[in-house]
Amino acid sequence: MSPLTRKPTFNGGIHPPDNKITRDKEIENLPPLGNLVVPMSQHIGAPAEPIVEEGEEVKRGQKIGKAQGFVSSPVHAPTSGEVTEIGSFSHPSGSEVKGIKIVPDEKDESVDFSGEDPAKLSDDEIIEKIQEAGIVGMGGAAFPTHVKLSPPEDKDIDILIINGAECEPYLTADYRLMLEKPEAIVNGTELIAGLLGVDKVYFGIEDNKPEAREAIERKASGSIDVVELSTKYPQGWEKTLIHALTGRKVPVGGLPLDIGAVVQNVSTVKAVWDGVKHGKPLLERVVTATGTIPDAGNYNVRIGTTWNDLIDQLGGLPKGETAKLIDGGPMMGDTQPDMDTPIVKSTSGVLALGSEPAVEREPSPCIRCGKCVDVCPANLLPTSIYKSVEAGDIDRAEELNATSCCECGSCTYVCPSEIPLVQWIVQGKGEIEMREEEE
Ligand code: SF4
Ligand code: SF4
Repeated sequence: MSPLTRKPTFNGGIHPPDNKITRDKEIENLPPLGNLVVPMSQHIGAPAEPIVEEGEEVKRGQKIGKAQGFVSSPVHAPTSGEVTEIGSFSHPSGSEVKGIKIVPDEKDESVDFSGEDPAKLSDDEIIEKIQEAGIVGMGGAAFPTHVKLSPPEDKDIDILIINGAECEPYLTADYRLMLEKPEAIVNGTELIAGLLGVDKVYFGIEDNKPEAREAIERKASGSIDVVELSTKYPQGWEKTLIHALTGRKVPVGGLPLDIGAVVQNVSTVKAVWDGVKHGKPLLERVVTATGTIPDAGNYNVRIGTTWNDLIDQLGGLPKGETAKLIDGGPMMGDTQPDMDTPIVKSTSGVLALGSEPAVEREPSPCIRCGKCVDVCPANLLPTSIYKSVEAGDIDRAEELNATSCCECGSCTYVCPSEIPLVQWIVQGKGEIEMREEEE
């Protein structure tokens, strides 16, 4: 058991109401619901390419999209059935991407999952299994996990951090996983630590989840330092988490790898264990369905299930009470214009917000109160960046390190003038990126 005498945290941040109304809801396995739409792009990197044809019968776990290169990830059929369409479908990011529609045959017949004792596998074989299982960062970033666990040779990695913060309001999927599946998470942690050859493993959990911390501690060996973090948003951002736990700072424009750290989210770690030990590809994930959804809870949902089918199963949206649908949490999630959007590998939450919290107000001029500066976890000047972007001065926005913004929305949350600071900053980041691509 770790001596829990300290509660590390970071400078800045906010304390929004946590609204974790589903924290006591056990994870429930849902069967395939309706027709499934499996996007070929559910990760950062090259989209997968379909390897099945319309009319073909597929089984649960069968690979249906092949990775295109190392920074890419394959996709698998989440159930058995017929491929009825290969075309363009809406994606939670708001874009249209290539995808495969499967009409389930209701047999849910699987291919054989052949797992292996990880102790008998070489590092290269483990990495190959992680890629073949289609595992990507499930905390939101969706970076292919096999790439993140293959640091360049010139990077000396000595710390692994497991992110159990789940600092976004409403979300409880990771909390429930830590509570209900601690052994698989700890086994996955030890597997990854061995692969990276690190000396030190921190497991960070906010102090509003004592039951989850106790569950992980009971399974963790002495090599894992389970650390209780102060509850504060955005504690789960990689850079704030690393700094809180290790005192190390990721340089501006740099990555955790640059200071010897790799961070993995708890859902991803469990998927790695399931993929390597049990040979099971990423076909489903735990999603917190919450807000105005009648049967709010934590559900193990097949990838490709549409919002429509999931919400229908959970009682439908109450008439007139829902103003906004968000993939993820209310702070960093993506607003969904379309109920045909599928659940993807990075969907941690299906959030229906009522008219009160989703209401948008007219911004008024900045009163120079400095609150946005005080809360920024990246030590930026949100007000100055927003003014530069508004004035079209992208050079200045770049000088002010706009690209270091993690888009946590803390500045917007505290602004008494209701200025949508994060939207301006995201626009500035996009313009900086576009200019770099043109150069
Ligand atoms: S500027 Fe970016 S990182 Fe800083 S508080 Fe605003 S959204 Fe968060
Ligand atoms: S919080 Fe809003 S009003 Fe205050 S300085 Fe920042 S932008 Fe201006």
